[in-house]
Amino acid sequence: MVFKNSEKEISLRKSGILKKVIKNSIFPISTIALFGITVFYWNNQDYGLALEYHGQTVATMSNDKVYEQANHMIIDQLLPEDKSKIGTYPAQIKITPVNKVNCCESPSKIKDEIIKRSKEIITEGYGIYISDKLIAIGNDKDEIENAIKEIINETKSQNEGCEVELIEKLDIKKGLFSKEHIENIDKIKNILKDGKIQFTEYTVSENDTIVGISEKFGISTEELLQSNAENKDIAVWDKLKIKKVEKILNFKIFKTITEEKEIPYSSETIQDPTKETSFKQITQKGKNGKEKFTYKVDYEDSKEISRSEQEHIIVEEPITEKVTVGTKKPPRKSEFIWPVPFTKKITSPYGKRDGGFHKGIDIARAGVVGTDIVASQGGKVIVAKNGNLGYGNHIIIDHGNGKKTVYGHCQKLFVRQGQEVSQGNVIATVGSTGDSTGPHLHFEIRINNVAQDPQKYL
Ligand SMILES: [Zn+2]
Repeated sequence: MVFKNSEKEISLRKSGILKKVIKNSIFPISTIALFGITVFYWNNQDYGLALEYHGQTVATMSNDKVYEQANHMIIDQLLPEDKSKIGTYPAQIKITPVNKVNCCESPSKIKDEIIKRSKEIITEGYGIYISDKLIAIGNDKDEIENAIKEIINETKSQNEGCEVELIEKLDIKKGLFSKEHIENIDKIKNILKDGKIQFTEYTVSENDTIVGISEKFGISTEELLQSNAENKDIAVWDKLKIKKVEKILNFKIFKTITEEKEIPYSSETIQDPTKETSFKQITQKGKNGKEKFTYKVDYEDSKEISRSEQEHIIVEEPITEKVTVGTKKPPRKSEFIWPVPFTKKITSPYGKRDGGFHKGIDIARAGVVGTDIVASQGGKVIVAKNGNLGYGNHIIIDHGNGKKTVYGHCQKLFVRQGQEVSQGNVIATVGSTGDSTGPHLHFEIRINNVAQDPQKYL
């Protein structure tokens, strides 16, 4: 039996069903106008509820709780701002018998039916979330994903050879949204690419300048004036619109690069006491090594902003150079040279002679007379004396450091006292003046005024 409107309202109020249905109705006025919910009540035995749309039964429920659950499912999926739009509204309800054969649907089926018939207001869509913040809503997931890929590829092409990664977490989540929030894909692309434009208000104070305000907000003066084009004469207390672009997609742009560097070899010195100090030989050739660094380089506006070392490998160890040097001191070179180039013949050596002591060596050979006597070492002539006694015509050269040489029995002297001579300079000729038995050079080396054996120094 079918109740008339007034009768069914009364009986639903009595049963408590009407109250509950009204309380949980999620539809705003406009939806309700399209989607008139009708509840049927089977009075005879078990009762079911039928959901009707434009006179057609779209689903049946075992009880009002199912409808309530479906409502909650919708509300839970809605954005907070959309939730507030959904007000409680008294629905017009009728009661009618339900065919038990077709009863009854689950809450989720009921939910789907409600959404299906509320398309003018609520629709399923895909929310784009950056770091869990909803940025935009579209109705095609593939389109959204392709738009993001496109932007990533574009960024990649602007940064050749670089990897491009989104800095923030990006999610595309299916949900129920109020229809007015759904954007078309071109608008979504613009938002993702160029960011969201927002305006804030700023009240001009007495000390403000256009340049100062622009700097304060990090925008150009042109931009500031453009945003406030309708205000031709900006004055104190005017409210200015400040445009702020919030970038949506921030990318990390980086490249992995490797660099090879040489490792300079070191040098080791090996001392060899068997070799003289003049000895120096590379016994092992040094060779630079090679090392490889792998860096992760971050870029911003195509400029390197930072790099971090990822890996460091020694590709080739350097080979140490080994240099062997002698440490043995060389025998001391004679500082004195032979004073008679004509002959090296010694007719009388240094030492004991005829019960006396011969303090030098006698150098002679046939034909020696008149030949050159050279300074055995450079120095200052301290004696250049002619005479017929003892050394006869003779020269004494002071070489410094307590060293002196004596040249006796000369024929002619070519130097005078006080003169500086160099080693090898001709200073006299061989003769037989003084206490001499025949032409020869009597040559002495004195160290600290003590005559030494010249043969030890020549
Ligand atoms: Zn002598």
